[in-house]
Amino acid sequence: MQNNWVDFKTVRAAVTMEMVLGHYGINGLGKKGDELSGRCPLHEGKGKNTLHVNLTKNVFNCFSCKVRGNVLDFVAAMEKCSLRDAGLKLQEWFAISSAAPTVSTKEKPESRGVEESPPVNKPLSFQLAGIDHEHEYLKARGITPETARTFGVGYFKGKGSMNGRIVIPIHNERGELVAYAGRAIDDSEPRYKLPAGFHKSLELFNLHRVTEPEVILVEGFFDCMKVHQAGFAAVALMGCSLSEAQEQLLAAKCERVIVMLDGDEPGQEAAAECLTRLGRRMWAGWPSWFRKTGSGCTHILFIGWRHSSILRAFGGRVIAQPTGK
Ligand SMILES: [Zn+2]
Repeated sequence: MQNNWVDFKTVRAAVTMEMVLGHYGINGLGKKGDELSGRCPLHEGKGKNTLHVNLTKNVFNCFSCKVRGNVLDFVAAMEKCSLRDAGLKLQEWFAISSAAPTVSTKEKPESRGVEESPPVNKPLSFQLAGIDHEHEYLKARGITPETARTFGVGYFKGKGSMNGRIVIPIHNERGELVAYAGRAIDDSEPRYKLPAGFHKSLELFNLHRVTEPEVILVEGFFDCMKVHQAGFAAVALMGCSLSEAQEQLLAAKCERVIVMLDGDEPGQEAAAECLTRLGRRMWAGWPSWFRKTGSGCTHILFIGWRHSSILRAFGGRVIAQPTGK
């Protein structure tokens, strides 16, 4: 479905001029009825009132530099890029899926601004195709092709912003695909690419696959896949902070949680906080013995875990099999 990668019609319907202006921090325009007007950000001219935006028609024009059009034209002019690239940017910034139903401009209350709408990750209507689950990078990280297939993870060589990266599908708790994370396979930055409009604090990676009452909470995608591979149910924060929404998701779905964030200082501080907060709502524990050896490997022993399991982690990557299970 790569020809749907940019869906101009959906982008135009989903994105209002207000959203785009908000994105660029252009807040000082005067308002009269459904018209905004003010200084034009597209040209260097002095006119204070050359840019006009019609909110009902969702269009703009500048009397001075003569640029006019819809949200796509505006972004293309701001970014000096093609309409297609503008569409790609808008889809990313506002996490737009190409067939998601949207509210038209007219139906929105006038006062609605970007910051007022409650954050939500809309399900994507497309899926990336041609993903290589057996790529060398995955092998080097110790991810088996079987795990990669389970998670839908692999190297993507198609077009778009995720080209040349390991793509990691992220689902909401109902199992709807809401985003792809893209991991660089070399030193290029950013290491992880996420759609700009995606709110990772609203999701727990892999939660939709968890059926067990006990789960291990980890930081990253690869930690999660490794723990899964070791035979445990796992979810990842996609970072080291536990959001309110993630706390609720976890407490609603699971009974017991083992907090196993990274062994570094921020990870351990975050783990302590997770333990305190989750401990109020469910059984929460963490490895009773947790230390780093000189060689940099961390041995973790779970006591109090139902199966008295031992996990060994090297550099944060879990490699051992559970025992007694
Ligand atoms: Zn202008």
